[in-house]
Amino acid sequence: MNGFEDTAAAGYGDGTRAVRAGLPEPVKNEPVLPGPAFAAHFHLPGDVEGPYAYGRDTNPTWTLLERAIGELEAPGTDGTDTVVFASGMAAVSAVVLSQVRAGDLVVLPSDGYQVLPLVRAQLEDYGVRVRTAPTAGDAQAALVDGARLLWLETPSNPGLDVCDVRRLVDVAHAAGALVAVDNTLATPLGQRPLELGADFSVASGTKGLTGHGDLLLGYVACRDAGLAERVRRWRKVVGAIPGPMEAWLAHRSLATIQLRNQRQWTNALAVAEALADRSEVAGLRYPGLPSDPSHEVAARQMRGFGGVVSFTLPDRAFAERFLTALRLVEDATSFGGVRSTAERRGRWGGDAVPEGFVRFSAGVEDTEDLVADVLRALDAAGSGA
Ligand SMILES: *Cc1c(COP(=O)(O)O)cnc(C)c1O
Repeated sequence: MNGFEDTAAAGYGDGTRAVRAGLPEPVKNEPVLPGPAFAAHFHLPGDVEGPYAYGRDTNPTWTLLERAIGELEAPGTDGTDTVVFASGMAAVSAVVLSQVRAGDLVVLPSDGYQVLPLVRAQLEDYGVRVRTAPTAGDAQAALVDGARLLWLETPSNPGLDVCDVRRLVDVAHAAGALVAVDNTLATPLGQRPLELGADFSVASGTKGLTGHGDLLLGYVACRDAGLAERVRRWRKVVGAIPGPMEAWLAHRSLATIQLRNQRQWTNALAVAEALADRSEVAGLRYPGLPSDPSHEVAARQMRGFGGVVSFTLPDRAFAERFLTALRLVEDATSFGGVRSTAERRGRWGGDAVPEGFVRFSAGVEDTEDLVADVLRALDAAGSGA
């Protein structure tokens, strides 16, 4: 077996590719996935040469993880244009701040991740112009004239709107703009932005990529080496590097990403279908529901619809009773973990959502147990319990 086996060319499915992703050539009497390399510096006699010299620049545990993520984001590539970071926001900032300069125009979604308004403020402090439009209906397309970077988030968090990546890439590239897609919600198994034409696929590995809620991580997968070089230089300058332990845990988790994602997607669809029949539920969104406004575009460009469902309960008190009554679903932020979580998103104050708005993240519990828990909690919340 070679170090880099092109598992995509071999025609293997996602599960097969996931368990092999990023593994080095096997060495007799050595572990199949080498343990984390805890090193601030590496033995370096004489001239500075070879791949590993100082731990802020490179680390063999990152190399294997980058290879693994690259193989999933862009099957058939070897991951050399993928760069891992300490968190999703470190990865987001690395793309935005390494690619734009004063006077440039950046187009952001108006309904994206709740930290984007802070990114906007930072960019404006640096003299970068920012325009925003909603994800739905490809509304950002109307703003790309003269832009340097178009930032997409699809499906958007938490509203779960979807935009047509291919169409927006065509419009942006014609206008001379680069395109980055936040792929956090979909994971590389659910969507491959680089294959849809994007220049960057960026994500928080904290969520469904690693899926155990026990680490923070981010990555940027780039279309080409030149773009990756600037992103890597930004990581060196800012030092937003993942610890070797986090990188190793993330790689270990990738082996089960297909199992986890498939159950999460099945559970999310089952929960959405159950909620669709309930009169106390409004504004139900799940791109996998055929009746969802996002479904048509999502079905064209996604390979799976994600594990997040959002909906609105009558008011804040109702939503709080619902969350308290759930037994299998933790009241917690974040999403994509093996244990289901849900939260009343309005408690953060950052998203433009109603007081009763709930973001629900389906875990890998047995589907019948999870649906029964959700329906029972709705009944309890409705009876005022
Ligand atoms: C969580 C999240 C981020 C930020 O990731 P961190 O790992 O928390 O820094 C970025 N984009 C989206 C869509 C997210 O959900």
